Amino acid sequence: MIQSTSLASAILTLATPTLTLIFASSFLWLWKYQHRSRYLLFLAGAYLCFVLGAATQISKIPSGTAPNAVVSTLFYTLSTLMLMEGMLRRIGEGLEIGLHAAIFTTLVGGIAYFSYVDGNLVARILINNFGTGAALLFIMPRLKPLRNANGINVLLYWVYLAFALSFFLRTALTVNVHPFGPSDKFAHSAFWIMLQFSMLFFAVLLTLVLLVASMIDRIDRLRSERDVDPLTGLLNRRGFNDHVHAKMARLPKGASVSLIVCDLDHFKRINDTFGHPAGDVVLQEFGGIVLSAIRKGDVAGRVGGEEFVVLLPDADYAGATDLAERMRVKLMDHPFSSLPASYSVTGSFGVAVLRPGESVDELLERADRMLYAAKSEGRNRVVHVGRHAGSANGA
Ligand code: GH3
Ligand code: MG
Ligand code: MG
Repeated sequence: MIQSTSLASAILTLATPTLTLIFASSFLWLWKYQHRSRYLLFLAGAYLCFVLGAATQISKIPSGTAPNAVVSTLFYTLSTLMLMEGMLRRIGEGLEIGLHAAIFTTLVGGIAYFSYVDGNLVARILINNFGTGAALLFIMPRLKPLRNANGINVLLYWVYLAFALSFFLRTALTVNVHPFGPSDKFAHSAFWIMLQFSMLFFAVLLTLVLLVASMIDRIDRLRSERDVDPLTGLLNRRGFNDHVHAKMARLPKGASVSLIVCDLDHFKRINDTFGHPAGDVVLQEFGGIVLSAIRKGDVAGRVGGEEFVVLLPDADYAGATDLAERMRVKLMDHPFSSLPASYSVTGSFGVAVLRPGESVDELLERADRMLYAAKSEGRNRVVHVGRHAGSANGA
Protein backbone atom coordinates (compact mmCIF):
# COMPACT_ATOMS: atom_id res chain seq x y z
CA MET A 1 0.00 0.00 0.00
CA ILE A 2 2.76 2.39 0.97
CA GLN A 3 4.55 1.57 -2.28
CA SER A 4 1.58 2.11 -4.55
CA THR A 5 0.60 5.33 -2.80
CA SER A 6 4.23 6.51 -3.06
CA LEU A 7 4.07 5.89 -6.77
CA ALA A 8 0.72 7.67 -7.06
CA SER A 9 2.09 10.54 -5.02
CA ALA A 10 5.18 10.76 -7.24
CA ILE A 11 3.06 10.72 -10.39
CA LEU A 12 0.81 13.45 -8.96
CA THR A 13 3.82 15.50 -7.93
CA LEU A 14 5.16 15.44 -11.48
CA ALA A 15 1.86 15.42 -13.36
CA THR A 16 0.63 18.70 -11.92
CA PRO A 17 3.59 20.86 -13.03
CA THR A 18 3.74 19.08 -16.40
CA LEU A 19 0.06 19.70 -17.05
CA THR A 20 0.43 23.26 -15.84
CA LEU A 21 3.29 23.83 -18.28
CA ILE A 22 1.08 22.56 -21.12
CA PHE A 23 -1.68 24.93 -19.98
CA ALA A 24 0.73 27.88 -19.87
CA SER A 25 1.78 27.10 -23.45
CA SER A 26 -1.86 26.88 -24.53
CA PHE A 27 -2.59 30.37 -23.22
CA LEU A 28 0.57 31.75 -24.85
CA TRP A 29 -0.42 30.06 -28.10
CA LEU A 30 -3.91 31.61 -27.93
CA TRP A 31 -2.33 35.00 -27.21
CA LYS A 32 -0.27 34.68 -30.41
CA TYR A 33 -3.55 34.89 -32.33
CA GLN A 34 -5.09 37.73 -30.31
CA HIS A 35 -2.42 40.11 -29.13
CA ARG A 36 -4.96 42.59 -27.82
CA SER A 37 -6.22 40.05 -25.27
CA ARG A 38 -3.54 40.76 -22.69
CA TYR A 39 -5.41 38.74 -20.08
CA LEU A 40 -4.12 35.62 -21.81
CA LEU A 41 -0.57 36.67 -20.88
CA PHE A 42 -1.58 36.97 -17.22
CA LEU A 43 -3.10 33.51 -17.30
CA ALA A 44 0.02 32.07 -18.97
CA GLY A 45 2.10 33.87 -16.32
CA ALA A 46 -0.08 32.41 -13.55
CA TYR A 47 0.57 28.89 -14.79
CA LEU A 48 4.30 29.49 -15.30
CA CYS A 49 4.67 30.85 -11.76
CA PHE A 50 2.84 27.81 -10.45
CA VAL A 51 5.35 25.57 -12.26
CA LEU A 52 8.23 27.55 -10.72
CA GLY A 53 6.69 27.17 -7.24
CA ALA A 54 6.31 23.41 -7.73
CA ALA A 55 9.86 23.17 -9.16
CA THR A 56 11.19 24.91 -6.05
CA GLN A 57 9.49 22.36 -3.82
CA ILE A 58 10.40 19.30 -5.89
CA SER A 59 14.04 20.26 -6.49
CA LYS A 60 14.44 21.45 -2.87
CA ILE A 61 16.33 24.45 -4.25
CA PRO A 62 16.99 26.62 -2.30
CA SER A 63 17.73 23.97 0.32
CA GLY A 64 16.51 24.31 3.89
CA THR A 65 12.86 24.40 4.96
CA ALA A 66 12.61 28.14 5.59
CA PRO A 67 14.13 29.54 2.35
CA ASN A 68 12.37 26.90 0.30
CA ALA A 69 8.99 27.71 1.88
CA VAL A 70 9.47 31.43 1.24
CA VAL A 71 10.60 31.08 -2.38
CA SER A 72 7.86 28.58 -3.29
CA THR A 73 5.24 30.79 -1.61
CA LEU A 74 6.56 33.75 -3.55
CA PHE A 75 5.93 31.94 -6.86
CA TYR A 76 2.58 30.50 -5.78
CA THR A 77 1.39 33.92 -4.64
CA LEU A 78 2.46 35.52 -7.93
CA SER A 79 0.56 32.73 -9.64
CA THR A 80 -2.61 33.46 -7.64
CA LEU A 81 -2.35 37.20 -8.30
CA MET A 82 -1.86 36.70 -12.03
CA LEU A 83 -4.82 34.33 -12.19
CA MET A 84 -6.98 36.97 -10.47
CA GLU A 85 -5.68 39.73 -12.75
CA GLY A 86 -6.27 37.55 -15.83
CA MET A 87 -9.84 36.72 -14.77
CA LEU A 88 -10.57 40.43 -14.18
CA ARG A 89 -8.87 41.74 -17.32
CA ARG A 90 -10.88 39.35 -19.43
CA ILE A 91 -14.00 41.30 -18.42
CA GLY A 92 -12.29 44.68 -18.77
CA GLU A 93 -11.44 45.10 -15.07
CA GLY A 94 -8.26 44.84 -13.04
CA LEU A 95 -6.96 44.65 -9.49
CA GLU A 96 -5.41 47.78 -7.96
CA ILE A 97 -1.62 47.57 -7.59
CA GLY A 98 -1.96 48.34 -3.86
CA LEU A 99 -4.14 45.26 -3.38
CA HIS A 100 -1.65 43.13 -5.29
CA ALA A 101 1.09 44.41 -2.98
CA ALA A 102 -1.00 43.87 0.16
CA ILE A 103 -1.89 40.26 -0.72
CA PHE A 104 1.71 39.53 -1.74
CA THR A 105 3.18 41.01 1.43
CA THR A 106 0.68 39.26 3.72
CA LEU A 107 1.26 35.83 2.22
CA VAL A 108 5.02 35.93 1.65
CA GLY A 109 5.64 37.90 4.87
CA GLY A 110 3.48 35.48 6.87
CA ILE A 111 5.31 32.46 5.49
CA ALA A 112 8.69 34.14 6.16
CA TYR A 113 7.66 34.81 9.77
CA PHE A 114 6.47 31.26 10.43
CA SER A 115 9.61 29.88 8.74
CA TYR A 116 12.37 32.00 10.23
CA VAL A 117 11.00 33.45 13.46
CA ASP A 118 8.58 30.78 14.60
CA GLY A 119 8.87 27.53 12.63
CA ASN A 120 5.26 26.41 12.51
CA LEU A 121 4.05 24.16 9.70
CA VAL A 122 0.36 24.40 10.58
CA ALA A 123 0.54 28.19 10.52
CA ARG A 124 2.22 28.00 7.11
CA ILE A 125 -0.43 25.64 5.75
CA LEU A 126 -3.16 27.93 7.07
CA ILE A 127 -1.60 31.10 5.65
CA ASN A 128 -0.90 29.56 2.27
CA ASN A 129 -4.27 27.97 1.75
CA PHE A 130 -6.65 30.32 3.57
CA GLY A 131 -4.69 33.28 2.17
CA THR A 132 -4.91 31.99 -1.39
CA GLY A 133 -8.56 31.01 -1.02
CA ALA A 134 -9.45 34.40 0.53
CA ALA A 135 -7.58 36.31 -2.20
CA LEU A 136 -9.39 34.34 -4.90
CA LEU A 137 -12.75 34.91 -3.18
CA PHE A 138 -12.05 38.63 -2.79
CA ILE A 139 -12.70 39.31 -6.49
CA MET A 140 -15.96 37.28 -6.65
CA PRO A 141 -18.16 40.42 -6.49
CA ARG A 142 -16.22 41.90 -9.41
CA LEU A 143 -16.74 38.71 -11.42
CA LYS A 144 -20.54 39.05 -11.20
CA PRO A 145 -20.83 40.16 -14.86
CA LEU A 146 -19.87 36.58 -15.77
CA ARG A 147 -23.09 35.35 -14.17
CA ASN A 148 -25.20 37.48 -16.48
CA ALA A 149 -23.33 36.49 -19.65
CA ASN A 150 -23.50 33.37 -21.85
CA GLY A 151 -23.27 29.76 -20.66
CA ILE A 152 -19.49 29.36 -20.67
CA ASN A 153 -19.06 32.50 -18.54
CA VAL A 154 -21.65 31.33 -16.02
CA LEU A 155 -19.81 28.02 -15.83
CA LEU A 156 -16.50 29.86 -15.42
CA TYR A 157 -17.95 31.85 -12.50
CA TRP A 158 -19.05 28.74 -10.58
CA VAL A 159 -15.92 26.70 -11.33
CA TYR A 160 -13.74 29.60 -10.18
CA LEU A 161 -15.82 29.84 -6.99
CA ALA A 162 -15.47 26.09 -6.39
CA PHE A 163 -11.72 26.36 -6.99
CA ALA A 164 -11.44 29.18 -4.44
CA LEU A 165 -13.55 27.30 -1.86
CA SER A 166 -11.54 24.11 -2.35
CA PHE A 167 -8.59 25.80 -0.62
CA PHE A 168 -10.64 26.11 2.57
CA LEU A 169 -12.10 22.62 2.45
CA ARG A 170 -8.76 21.01 1.71
CA THR A 171 -7.01 22.92 4.48
CA ALA A 172 -9.68 22.15 7.06
CA LEU A 173 -9.38 18.45 6.26
CA THR A 174 -5.56 18.47 6.16
CA VAL A 175 -5.05 20.29 9.43
CA ASN A 176 -7.70 18.20 11.12
CA VAL A 177 -6.10 14.92 10.14
CA HIS A 178 -2.57 16.05 10.64
CA PRO A 179 -2.31 18.79 13.25
CA PHE A 180 1.43 18.90 13.99
CA GLY A 181 4.61 18.70 12.05
CA PRO A 182 5.49 17.14 8.70
CA SER A 183 5.76 13.42 8.26
CA ASP A 184 6.65 11.23 5.32
CA LYS A 185 3.86 8.88 6.21
CA PHE A 186 1.31 11.62 5.91
CA ALA A 187 2.78 12.91 2.66
CA HIS A 188 2.27 9.45 1.16
CA SER A 189 -1.09 8.64 2.69
CA ALA A 190 -4.06 7.93 0.47
CA PHE A 191 -5.83 10.81 2.12
CA TRP A 192 -3.15 13.31 1.16
CA ILE A 193 -3.14 11.99 -2.40
CA MET A 194 -6.89 12.47 -2.56
CA LEU A 195 -6.44 16.06 -1.43
CA GLN A 196 -3.74 16.65 -4.03
CA PHE A 197 -5.98 15.06 -6.61
CA SER A 198 -8.88 17.37 -5.73
CA MET A 199 -6.57 20.34 -6.28
CA LEU A 200 -5.57 18.96 -9.66
CA PHE A 201 -9.18 18.26 -10.55
CA PHE A 202 -10.36 21.81 -9.85
CA ALA A 203 -7.32 23.36 -11.52
CA VAL A 204 -7.82 21.29 -14.68
CA LEU A 205 -11.54 22.04 -14.73
CA LEU A 206 -10.94 25.77 -14.28
CA THR A 207 -8.29 25.77 -16.99
CA LEU A 208 -10.40 23.91 -19.52
CA VAL A 209 -13.32 26.25 -18.95
CA LEU A 210 -10.97 29.25 -19.24
CA LEU A 211 -9.49 27.90 -22.48
CA VAL A 212 -12.90 27.30 -24.03
CA ALA A 213 -14.11 30.72 -22.82
CA SER A 214 -11.15 32.50 -24.39
CA MET A 215 -11.70 30.68 -27.67
CA ILE A 216 -15.36 31.68 -27.59
CA ASP A 217 -14.23 35.29 -26.86
CA ARG A 218 -12.18 35.14 -30.04
CA ILE A 219 -15.03 33.72 -32.14
CA ASP A 220 -17.43 36.35 -30.76
CA ARG A 221 -14.99 39.14 -31.62
CA LEU A 222 -14.50 37.85 -35.17
CA ARG A 223 -18.25 37.52 -35.61
CA SER A 224 -18.87 41.04 -34.38
CA GLU A 225 -16.12 42.42 -36.64
CA ARG A 226 -17.80 40.62 -39.52
CA ASP A 227 -21.32 41.85 -38.69
CA VAL A 228 -20.76 45.40 -37.46
CA ASP A 229 -20.10 48.57 -39.44
CA PRO A 230 -17.01 50.06 -37.79
CA LEU A 231 -17.99 53.66 -38.62
CA THR A 232 -21.37 53.74 -36.87
CA GLY A 233 -21.29 50.65 -34.66
CA LEU A 234 -24.59 49.61 -36.26
CA LEU A 235 -24.94 46.24 -38.00
CA ASN A 236 -23.74 46.06 -41.61
CA ARG A 237 -25.92 44.49 -44.32
CA ARG A 238 -24.77 40.97 -43.52
CA GLY A 239 -25.20 41.45 -39.77
CA PHE A 240 -28.61 43.05 -40.26
CA ASN A 241 -29.84 40.15 -42.42
CA ASP A 242 -28.56 37.55 -39.95
CA HIS A 243 -30.01 39.30 -36.91
CA VAL A 244 -33.35 39.92 -38.60
CA HIS A 245 -33.72 36.31 -39.68
CA ALA A 246 -32.81 35.08 -36.20
CA LYS A 247 -35.27 37.54 -34.66
CA MET A 248 -38.12 36.63 -37.05
CA ALA A 249 -37.71 32.94 -36.25
CA ARG A 250 -38.24 33.69 -32.55
CA LEU A 251 -41.23 36.04 -32.91
CA PRO A 252 -44.66 34.94 -31.74
CA LYS A 253 -47.27 34.37 -34.44
CA GLY A 254 -49.24 37.49 -35.31
CA ALA A 255 -46.56 39.92 -34.08
CA SER A 256 -46.77 43.29 -35.75
CA VAL A 257 -43.42 43.77 -37.50
CA SER A 258 -42.50 47.07 -39.11
CA LEU A 259 -39.54 48.26 -41.12
CA ILE A 260 -38.12 51.74 -41.60
CA VAL A 261 -35.59 52.52 -44.32
CA CYS A 262 -33.86 55.86 -44.41
CA ASP A 263 -31.55 57.49 -46.92
CA LEU A 264 -29.79 60.78 -46.22
CA ASP A 265 -30.69 63.51 -48.71
CA HIS A 266 -28.11 64.93 -51.09
CA PHE A 267 -25.35 63.27 -49.20
CA LYS A 268 -23.02 63.46 -52.17
CA ARG A 269 -23.25 67.21 -51.86
CA ILE A 270 -21.98 67.08 -48.25
CA ASN A 271 -18.99 64.99 -49.33
CA ASP A 272 -18.30 67.26 -52.28
CA THR A 273 -18.57 70.47 -50.25
CA PHE A 274 -16.98 69.54 -46.90
CA GLY A 275 -14.92 66.49 -47.79
CA HIS A 276 -15.33 62.75 -47.29
CA PRO A 277 -14.15 62.75 -43.65
CA ALA A 278 -16.83 65.34 -42.80
CA GLY A 279 -19.36 63.03 -44.48
CA ASP A 280 -18.10 60.16 -42.35
CA VAL A 281 -18.75 62.18 -39.18
CA VAL A 282 -22.31 62.85 -40.38
CA LEU A 283 -22.86 59.11 -40.87
CA GLN A 284 -21.37 58.43 -37.46
CA GLU A 285 -23.50 60.98 -35.65
CA PHE A 286 -26.64 59.91 -37.49
CA GLY A 287 -25.83 56.35 -36.38
CA GLY A 288 -25.96 57.70 -32.82
CA ILE A 289 -29.35 59.33 -33.49
CA VAL A 290 -30.73 56.00 -34.76
CA LEU A 291 -29.32 54.11 -31.78
CA SER A 292 -30.77 56.51 -29.24
CA ALA A 293 -34.18 56.48 -30.92
CA ILE A 294 -34.76 52.72 -31.09
CA ARG A 295 -35.92 50.41 -28.33
CA LYS A 296 -34.29 47.30 -26.97
CA GLY A 297 -35.17 44.46 -29.32
CA ASP A 298 -35.23 46.63 -32.44
CA VAL A 299 -32.58 45.81 -35.04
CA ALA A 300 -30.73 48.69 -36.72
CA GLY A 301 -28.14 48.65 -39.48
CA ARG A 302 -26.28 50.73 -42.05
CA VAL A 303 -26.88 48.65 -45.14
CA GLY A 304 -25.47 50.97 -47.80
CA GLY A 305 -23.32 54.10 -47.99
CA GLU A 306 -25.88 56.47 -46.46
CA GLU A 307 -28.80 54.09 -46.19
CA PHE A 308 -30.05 52.89 -42.81
CA VAL A 309 -32.71 50.34 -41.81
CA VAL A 310 -34.53 49.61 -38.58
CA LEU A 311 -36.64 46.52 -37.99
CA LEU A 312 -39.25 46.96 -35.26
CA PRO A 313 -40.48 43.54 -34.12
CA ASP A 314 -43.36 45.03 -32.15
CA ALA A 315 -44.70 48.16 -33.87
CA ASP A 316 -47.67 48.92 -36.14
CA TYR A 317 -47.89 51.69 -38.74
CA ALA A 318 -48.56 54.34 -36.15
CA GLY A 319 -45.64 53.29 -33.95
CA ALA A 320 -43.19 52.89 -36.83
CA THR A 321 -44.21 56.12 -38.54
CA ASP A 322 -43.93 57.92 -35.24
CA LEU A 323 -40.40 56.67 -34.71
CA ALA A 324 -39.39 57.55 -38.28
CA GLU A 325 -40.85 61.03 -37.83
CA ARG A 326 -38.93 61.50 -34.57
CA MET A 327 -35.68 60.45 -36.25
CA ARG A 328 -36.40 62.79 -39.19
CA VAL A 329 -36.84 65.78 -36.91
CA LYS A 330 -33.84 64.89 -34.75
CA LEU A 331 -31.67 64.60 -37.85
CA MET A 332 -32.90 67.90 -39.26
CA ASP A 333 -32.21 69.70 -35.96
CA HIS A 334 -28.89 68.02 -35.19
CA PRO A 335 -25.83 70.31 -35.29
CA PHE A 336 -23.26 68.03 -36.93
CA SER A 337 -19.79 68.61 -35.55
CA SER A 338 -18.15 68.47 -38.98
CA LEU A 339 -20.54 70.93 -40.66
CA PRO A 340 -21.31 74.66 -40.27
CA ALA A 341 -23.89 75.23 -37.51
CA SER A 342 -26.47 76.51 -39.97
CA TYR A 343 -26.26 73.43 -42.17
CA SER A 344 -29.26 71.16 -41.84
CA VAL A 345 -28.94 67.53 -42.98
CA THR A 346 -32.22 65.85 -43.91
CA GLY A 347 -33.28 62.32 -44.69
CA SER A 348 -36.09 60.51 -46.48
CA PHE A 349 -37.90 57.67 -44.76
CA GLY A 350 -40.00 54.75 -46.02
CA VAL A 351 -42.15 52.65 -43.67
CA ALA A 352 -43.85 49.31 -44.24
CA VAL A 353 -45.59 46.73 -42.03
CA LEU A 354 -45.17 43.01 -42.62
CA ARG A 355 -48.20 41.40 -44.26
CA PRO A 356 -49.28 37.84 -43.45
CA GLY A 357 -47.21 35.36 -45.44
CA GLU A 358 -44.77 38.02 -46.61
CA SER A 359 -41.00 37.48 -46.43
CA VAL A 360 -38.59 39.99 -44.92
CA ASP A 361 -37.11 40.61 -48.38
CA GLU A 362 -40.54 41.52 -49.72
CA LEU A 363 -41.07 43.81 -46.74
CA LEU A 364 -37.71 45.51 -47.46
CA GLU A 365 -38.68 45.94 -51.08
CA ARG A 366 -41.94 47.64 -50.17
CA ALA A 367 -40.27 49.91 -47.62
CA ASP A 368 -37.70 50.80 -50.32
CA ARG A 369 -40.50 51.78 -52.68
CA MET A 370 -41.88 54.08 -49.96
CA LEU A 371 -38.43 55.59 -49.59
CA TYR A 372 -38.21 56.36 -53.30
CA ALA A 373 -41.67 57.87 -53.11
CA ALA A 374 -40.40 60.11 -50.29
CA LYS A 375 -37.45 61.13 -52.46
CA SER A 376 -39.60 61.91 -55.47
CA GLU A 377 -42.16 63.80 -53.36
CA GLY A 378 -39.41 66.23 -52.34
CA ARG A 379 -37.24 64.46 -49.66
CA ASN A 380 -37.13 65.21 -45.90
CA ARG A 381 -40.31 63.25 -45.25
CA VAL A 382 -41.76 59.94 -44.07
CA VAL A 383 -43.87 57.90 -46.45
CA HIS A 384 -45.76 54.71 -45.64
CA VAL A 385 -47.98 52.47 -47.69
CA GLY A 386 -51.23 53.99 -46.56
CA ARG A 387 -50.16 57.53 -47.33
CA HIS A 388 -48.45 56.97 -50.63
CA ALA A 389 -50.67 57.88 -53.58
CA GLY A 390 -48.95 55.30 -55.78
CA SER A 391 -49.89 52.43 -53.50
CA ALA A 392 -53.33 51.26 -54.60
CA ASN A 393 -53.85 48.55 -52.01
CA GLY A 394 -53.08 50.65 -48.94
CA ALA A 395 -52.15 49.01 -45.66
P1 GH3 B 1 -30.29 61.42 -52.61
O1 GH3 B 1 -30.89 62.53 -51.87
O2 GH3 B 1 -31.01 61.13 -53.89
O3 GH3 B 1 -30.13 60.22 -51.80
O4 GH3 B 1 -28.84 61.93 -53.04
P2 GH3 B 1 -27.46 61.45 -52.46
O5 GH3 B 1 -26.43 62.41 -52.89
O6 GH3 B 1 -27.59 61.24 -51.02
O7 GH3 B 1 -27.32 60.04 -53.15
P3 GH3 B 1 -26.19 59.39 -54.02
O8 GH3 B 1 -26.52 57.93 -54.08
O9 GH3 B 1 -26.04 60.12 -55.33
O10 GH3 B 1 -24.86 59.60 -53.22
C1 GH3 B 1 -24.54 58.90 -52.09
C2 GH3 B 1 -23.15 59.28 -51.69
O11 GH3 B 1 -22.76 58.70 -50.45
C3 GH3 B 1 -22.12 58.89 -52.71
C4 GH3 B 1 -20.99 58.26 -51.90
O12 GH3 B 1 -19.75 58.81 -52.20
C5 GH3 B 1 -21.35 58.60 -50.49
N1 GH3 B 1 -20.91 57.58 -49.57
C6 GH3 B 1 -21.16 56.27 -49.57
N2 GH3 B 1 -20.56 55.66 -48.52
C7 GH3 B 1 -19.90 56.63 -47.85
C8 GH3 B 1 -19.09 56.63 -46.68
O13 GH3 B 1 -18.86 55.61 -46.01
N3 GH3 B 1 -18.58 57.81 -46.24
C9 GH3 B 1 -18.82 58.98 -46.93
N4 GH3 B 1 -18.29 60.10 -46.47
N5 GH3 B 1 -19.57 58.99 -48.04
C10 GH3 B 1 -20.11 57.84 -48.49
MG1 MG C 1 -28.90 59.78 -50.28
MG1 MG D 1 -28.39 56.24 -51.19
